Amino acid sequence: MTAIVDPVSSGRSQTSETLDEFVERARAFLEAHAARKPDTAAEFVWGEGDDFVGIVEEGDPTGEAHLVAAARDWAATRFDAGFSWLDGPIELGGHGLDPEFVRAYRSLESNYELPDQSIFTIGLGMVAPTILAHARPEISARYLRPIQRGDLIACQLFSEPGAGSDLAAVATTAERDGDSWIVNGQKVWTSNAHHAGLGEIICRTDRDAPKHAGMTAFLVDMTAPGVEVRPLRQMTGGAGFNEVFFTDVRIPDDHRLGDVGQGWGVAMTTLMNERASIGSGMGLGRGPGPFERLIALTRAMGRHDDPIVRDRLAQLYIQHKVLGYTGKRALGAMQAGRLPGPEMSILKLAGTIHLLEVADFAAAVLGPKLCADTGEWGTFAWTKLVCGAPGGRLGGGTDEILRNIIGERVLGLPREPKP
Ligand SMILES: Cc1cc2nc3c(=O)[nH]c(=O)nc-3n(C[C@H](O)[C@H](O)[C@H](O)COP(=O)(O)OP(=O)(O)OC[C@H]3O[C@@H](n4cnc5c(N)ncnc54)[C@H](O)[C@@H]3O)c2cc1C
Repeated sequence: MTAIVDPVSSGRSQTSETLDEFVERARAFLEAHAARKPDTAAEFVWGEGDDFVGIVEEGDPTGEAHLVAAARDWAATRFDAGFSWLDGPIELGGHGLDPEFVRAYRSLESNYELPDQSIFTIGLGMVAPTILAHARPEISARYLRPIQRGDLIACQLFSEPGAGSDLAAVATTAERDGDSWIVNGQKVWTSNAHHAGLGEIICRTDRDAPKHAGMTAFLVDMTAPGVEVRPLRQMTGGAGFNEVFFTDVRIPDDHRLGDVGQGWGVAMTTLMNERASIGSGMGLGRGPGPFERLIALTRAMGRHDDPIVRDRLAQLYIQHKVLGYTGKRALGAMQAGRLPGPEMSILKLAGTIHLLEVADFAAAVLGPKLCADTGEWGTFAWTKLVCGAPGGRLGGGTDEILRNIIGERVLGLPREPKP
């Protein structure tokens, strides 16, 4: 979980337990419920769900159902044991603990083999912080606990066929009808919509207002009549994205996020959290870290003595470390209560570049074995990363848009000329 909006204004721990006592209790919980990761990457067995790109994909329905069930089971077990939402507000189901408890738990948990939790990334990392910041208290009380426990998967309904980078061009409309809104239109590229029970949607509520001022954000029940989810097949072979069509879908006004016409600000809360969670969370799913896997792959392919390969590995290691420290610094600032800012764009851009270079390196080391399943250790499993990594340049803000933001808001360069 990336808890970015500081939910506990005091920031003080609500328990008398010391950090050491907490770590001991957490270790005992993890030992009782999970196996430790193998010490070396070569012992790691690639298997179902070793997905690099953070989307549980539709494809083999049985395999997918099994992965989602395993993810939900672990989320519920951890929540019920009191190790989820450690820094969340106590009145909503969190524990009101200091950020150091969150860091300690994450670090401990990273040593154990656990079901992939990426199906929850959008709900926990983006939708939940937005609900906390902009929803009415009774709506936060209704949805945040099930999102944190893994009972409710949430999706982000922003992009449309004519509104991607230019999000303010959204054309899906919401028209007021008494205490409800009636939504009509189409969203696209909605990750995990086929699993989601709840969506955060940005709609146009005023066609006459300047485009940034005419939008409003809502929470929509994805099982409501009039919501149709259609999968989109990707070059990875899976279908983790969807088109979502809305036909006269009714949303109660209490599910509005923020004021009418303030949807742009709500969307920015979500997008800054998205960049932070993508940038800091970029990894290779289950098992040992990315770098350990690259070394193991290089050895397995007999390329570890090649000076060019060794040089590229060293460069990737440096990138990996710098990215990790940048992520920690950004997370530290957010846990100290500062809202994510343009530095998240740097983190997301750097994370994407790194992921692409990892994919490129793996493809170069594997050669034809990348796509010919020879049954050798760790070969075919890289195809999903190699095919999925380019999508990282688009989702969560394209490279070009992030460079514009960094240029204008970090470096203070002149604004992009209006067309
Ligand atoms: C892995 C992945 C997951 C996604 N998940 C979701 C999701 O869950 N929910 C959701 O709502 N959307 C999702 N998206 C969609 C994503 O937000 C959009 O792809 C993104 O905003 C870009 O929009 P677009 O695809 O319409 O491209 P466009 O905006 O049409 O851009 C096309 C090209 O033009 C460039 N360009 C556009 N404007 C400028 C400019 N001003 N200056 C310079 N260059 C520019 C872009 O950089 C890009 O190269 C996902 C996308 C991916 C790849």
